[in-house]
Amino acid sequence: MTPQITSKLPDVGTTIFTVMSQLAMDCNAINLGQGFPDYPMNEELTELVNKAMKDGHNQYVHMAGLLQLRERLAEKIENLYSNAVNPQTQITVTPGGTYAIYTSLTTILQPGDEVIVFEPAYDSYIPNVEVNGAKAVRVSLQFPSYNIPWNEVKQKINDKTKAIIINTPHNPTGAVLSEDDINELRNIVSNTNIMIVSDEVYEHLIYDNIQHQSLLRYPDLLERSFVCFSFGKTYHCTGWKIGYCVSSPYLMSEFKKVHQFNCFSCNSPVQFALAEYLKNEEAYLTLGDLMQQKRDYFRTLMEQTPFKVIPSHGSYFECYSYKDFSDEADDQLAISLTKKYGVATIPMSSFYKDGTDNKVLRFCFGKKEETLEKAIERLLKVR
Ligand code: PMP
Repeated sequence: MTPQITSKLPDVGTTIFTVMSQLAMDCNAINLGQGFPDYPMNEELTELVNKAMKDGHNQYVHMAGLLQLRERLAEKIENLYSNAVNPQTQITVTPGGTYAIYTSLTTILQPGDEVIVFEPAYDSYIPNVEVNGAKAVRVSLQFPSYNIPWNEVKQKINDKTKAIIINTPHNPTGAVLSEDDINELRNIVSNTNIMIVSDEVYEHLIYDNIQHQSLLRYPDLLERSFVCFSFGKTYHCTGWKIGYCVSSPYLMSEFKKVHQFNCFSCNSPVQFALAEYLKNEEAYLTLGDLMQQKRDYFRTLMEQTPFKVIPSHGSYFECYSYKDFSDEADDQLAISLTKKYGVATIPMSSFYKDGTDNKVLRFCFGKKEETLEKAIERLLKVR
């Protein structure tokens, strides 16, 4: 007899990214669905990993991450955000940004707690809340600006509210938070026990001369925040699955209790390499310009198609409305675009728990120019 369990995530199936990527492969389609670059990453960084392995850096490093790497990260944070964080007590290296978010939520949540989650939402947030026995209280971003409706947030706060998850630059919309948003957030959380999980994996993928509103800029907010990052996004190596979390010494000491019995310590040669490569400020400071060029190029090409842009200011993604030429459900359109025209995208409804369908598809422009051109050639046929 097969023993039965009570599923902790009864509503969760295979994610839309897996479904669309598989369909893209089956149909030999161009994959503008999932957010990963199709151009090579920097060779200097791969060489540094090879060197670290050859130099024998192949055993466990410190549970919180290689100290040299944490020190470099603290320097970077001080330079970019004028905030002196302690590398010994406030930073932990994690196997990716998603893990940092999961561990933050697991550190603070008790069954029955509530967490404010904005939708459309990166797909891990709600399951990460629910697996901890807590409840995700969903708030829709205003369509089509995708701004946060702060009044609604205030109405949904109560004494069970344990945390608010924010994400800037935002996946899937490319929206970015402003200083006014941060002030709204501060007004809501000050004098409460509410914590913030801030997903900033697209920290350097921000465009149009907008300043990234990292919570690391605000020591008063960092006291109650877990700020999560991913090297995969910064260095075009999403498959490496390495990131880090920054918090207050108190919250980070609790985070480490969860982390040390789950992962313990992350891949060491990669950490030696990153500690060295982080000395090269250009590598991350020029990323915004590089990706903005891709966004602009893609946007210009898309102007020839019947899709209407909903402008992105950050991330790998730009959203496009198709309501002017079709009233098909977005998941059906995404499937038929893949099968009939050979371009895979992600339907926006998949980022809403209730499947809200505003007739919008998400496109990833973090690709080679020739990939984008080929995709447009195919999309030109859509009518
Ligand atoms: N947050 C957001 C908003 C993301 O888009 C991603 C990557 N898709 C992550 C977190 C996760 O990053 P990682 O691959 O390092 O876990």
